[in-house]
Amino acid sequence: MDRPSPLPRRRFLQLTGTALGLTATSACASSGPSRTTTPPTTTARTSAAGATSDRTYSPERFDPWIELDRAAWTHNVREASRLAGGRPILAVVKNNAYGLGDRAVGPLLADMSQVGGIATVRVEEALALREEGVTKSIVVMAEGSEDEIEEMARHNVLPSVWLDDAPERLRSVSRRLGRPVPVQLFIDTGMNREGMPHTRARRWIEELVQSEYVDVNGTYTMFTHDLDFDREQLARFEELLGWARGRNLPLGTLHASPTYELFHLPEAHYDMVRPGNALFGNPPDGEEATDKATLRPVFRLNTRVVRVEHLEPGDSAGFNRTFMPERASWVALLPIGRTDGYPSEANGTCEVLINGRLYPVAGGVNSAHAILDIGEEKTVEVGDVATLIGPDHPAVLPHTVAERTGLGFLRIIQGINPRLPRRVV
Ligand SMILES: *Cc1c(COP(=O)(O)O)cnc(C)c1O
Repeated sequence: MDRPSPLPRRRFLQLTGTALGLTATSACASSGPSRTTTPPTTTARTSAAGATSDRTYSPERFDPWIELDRAAWTHNVREASRLAGGRPILAVVKNNAYGLGDRAVGPLLADMSQVGGIATVRVEEALALREEGVTKSIVVMAEGSEDEIEEMARHNVLPSVWLDDAPERLRSVSRRLGRPVPVQLFIDTGMNREGMPHTRARRWIEELVQSEYVDVNGTYTMFTHDLDFDREQLARFEELLGWARGRNLPLGTLHASPTYELFHLPEAHYDMVRPGNALFGNPPDGEEATDKATLRPVFRLNTRVVRVEHLEPGDSAGFNRTFMPERASWVALLPIGRTDGYPSEANGTCEVLINGRLYPVAGGVNSAHAILDIGEEKTVEVGDVATLIGPDHPAVLPHTVAERTGLGFLRIIQGINPRLPRRVV
């Protein structure tokens, strides 16, 4: 993985200074000529296929694929930017872009002028985005080992630090690199998940900021989404920042607000905001409609009908004869199942959109197959595109499928198989 950066060093330094320093415009123009010259609606980018995806989209295939709707992402980013009063967005694409595919989603978001940088939680996600040609700042919101910190630094990726022994590790990495290590400081203001506890952060911050082996590029905290306690957390963060200002300790770019606080705590927007869910079309707390912003679904889960069959009364379809029509009926087989991320809870609860009409899932969702009840008329053909989740009808919206299956939005998108080809449309 220790491959040289795709960027010349001068460009590197320029970007470190500018992208998180909130003048992102120069960086955004250059992230990937292949993306800007490729007609987005006709060609699948091999590189968009995802870390573990070994196949690309082809119009002949029956098997499922994910479509990423560029216009919807653009819309959600604009809405987030508006809520943030025009501050840059540090777009969170952790956990394989919440299941939608980091190699496809990361470059898509990084191309947008409102996006100042990208945040992940795993080193390999950050490096994958560099491989995909993302040139803007990338923050890894996790502690790394010395080797990982060195690797991040060599790829112009910003590690986060918050453990007590971070200074020692950074000193050692800096010696190996022969230069200061740019880092982000993660402060825990009461969530007790990651972060240096604010109560004992002062000496630690002082040591890091004043050292010659660290370049503090930014400082951040994470909220609990309990609005009253958020305010307490904010006060704790402010106290620490006030102390640092009083001591002339520069803490770099400040950020704190994921989606919930982007919507509900404008006083915590600082230099930039840090949402994931909002960009993915998921408003805070499952608030379906919010008067603050309208978010759009950003993807489709599609496949093609691979069989259409006529059943007589007495015939059945699926394991344990799941579907037993009383009248002569047609059924359609979709080559998609639980393994692809379409949940078995969809049987008997969800519908699928084909040529503008809805058909109930009735013959079961197995590991790799789902059977639809087409009714008495043969209204679908082999090869027709079926949308199981998407923006095109209220019955197949991600939130509708989430509700009807009882799984919730995140479990739906996080369950999508990383191997499915991603196609930006
Ligand atoms: C996940 C995460 C975010 C983004 O949260 P959303 O609720 O998806 O907006 C921001 N910051 C940190 C530290 C996170 O772990």
